[in-house]
Amino acid sequence: MIDAGATSPPGTVPVMGLHLRRGRSLRRRLAVLGTVGALAATGCGGASDLTSSDQPEPEPSSTTGPTSGPTSAPTKDPSPPDIDLSGAESQPVDDPYYPHNGEPYLDTLHYDLDLDWDPAAKLLQGEATITFRVTEPREEIQLDFGAPLKITGASLDDREVGTTEAGEDLVVTTPGLTDEDYHTLVLRYRGSPQPVEAAGSRTDLLSVGWTTESDGSVWTLQEPWGAYTWYPVNDHPSDKAFYDATISASGGMIGVFNGQQQDQTTEGDVTTTAWHLGSPAASYLITIAIGDYEVHTDEGPEGLPISYWIPADNTEALGWLEESPEMLSWLEETLGDYPFSQIGAVVVPSDSAMETQTLVTMGEGVFRADEVTLRGALLHEYAHQWYGDVVSPDNWTDLWLNEGFAMYIQLLWADSVGLMSYAQTISQWTSLDNQMRADYGPPGAYYEDEFASANVYYSGAVMIHQIREQIGDEAFFHALRTWPKVHEFGTANRDDYITWLSDRTGTDLGPFINEWLTSPTTPS
Ligand SMILES: [Zn+2]
Repeated sequence: MIDAGATSPPGTVPVMGLHLRRGRSLRRRLAVLGTVGALAATGCGGASDLTSSDQPEPEPSSTTGPTSGPTSAPTKDPSPPDIDLSGAESQPVDDPYYPHNGEPYLDTLHYDLDLDWDPAAKLLQGEATITFRVTEPREEIQLDFGAPLKITGASLDDREVGTTEAGEDLVVTTPGLTDEDYHTLVLRYRGSPQPVEAAGSRTDLLSVGWTTESDGSVWTLQEPWGAYTWYPVNDHPSDKAFYDATISASGGMIGVFNGQQQDQTTEGDVTTTAWHLGSPAASYLITIAIGDYEVHTDEGPEGLPISYWIPADNTEALGWLEESPEMLSWLEETLGDYPFSQIGAVVVPSDSAMETQTLVTMGEGVFRADEVTLRGALLHEYAHQWYGDVVSPDNWTDLWLNEGFAMYIQLLWADSVGLMSYAQTISQWTSLDNQMRADYGPPGAYYEDEFASANVYYSGAVMIHQIREQIGDEAFFHALRTWPKVHEFGTANRDDYITWLSDRTGTDLGPFINEWLTSPTTPS
């Protein structure tokens, strides 16, 4: 994700899109970079395992052509495509940084969320139907679930089961549950969702999860956790799942979600939308927004359907978002075919941007930033669809696999369109590397309370530049296009990347990459 720095107090620096709380000397040095260094930073993350699904995403059943203004809902298609849920089988892991979220024995495959939002009462009623498997026999399973929400009913494979809520843990009694079959858990719940404390020091990331505005509109940003603030979930990137969602909201509001819109109906003052995400996603890449939205459609490379969901009173965002087809064409030339069946952006009242899968989340604060930051942020979130979304890290130590690459690709693009000089920028970032390591830790071993700080972005990108210097342009750019396909729709980690790149190049890159990721000072 990215922070526009739109709310920087005087004297702080929105350069890089991060508010730097530690290291005043670094802050001053960043300030010197001015707009030249104003690539927006982003702070997104991930996890990995060795699972790899070859299940292609089902093609959308309908596409819409480009239009220039607000449109009605897409073609009605109430029946989601059948999905082979084995495409979402994962090997969940305990997170080395944040083990309190996610359970390694639990592999969720599909979430069907039926959500009813009352903006006036700020009340959510939900029913989550979760298809899952366990990797060992279990008498109970645990999900992450926001404390303000209360379970009102639960069944497992059509039989009522007991639940216990303790803080942010939901324990479901599952007597005799075996690892042989898929199971279906239905959880009904209600309450007023609240955001929770984040894991870093960025001012745009102090809280994460479901956020309700004073008018009852809703948006989310949920990295490295926070999906659990509004639905019961195994909230860890190593567990990907398919999603369907039906969102009902009153008061003229419309619910927006990842994937393809299947349906939209209005009865009285309640509008209901239905969504299908046909590619397995990590929970931090899920987004929901509810508000006074208008949709504008566009078309990307090879007819790729694009949707921009913009608040009705926002007159500025559309003009910037309409650069998306050009950006996506550049990304396809650089990284290979776009990995999903649709793309778009939803504009929310945040200062960040986030690479939510098939529908990037763009904060209105980003649109108030300078042009280099704003265009860079949009490109950055689209780049994550290849680096972070179709292949995600299986644990949060490897956030650099997302942010280092997204930042590096953002720089390649900014250089290509004349916004920044590659050589000059790499030199500047390199000069800051030592201080970033001192302030936030090495990019592959960052301080646990500095999630998504500058080091994983810029030190990560500098390391990738060094890898390019080591293996040469031809091997580097071929690898850049190939890696997203190696663990397509799954997850990967540092060892996976080192092994793969070393095998391709015939050089053991382990010592080199490990030193760049873990050294407390800039490697010589
Ligand atoms: Zn990012």
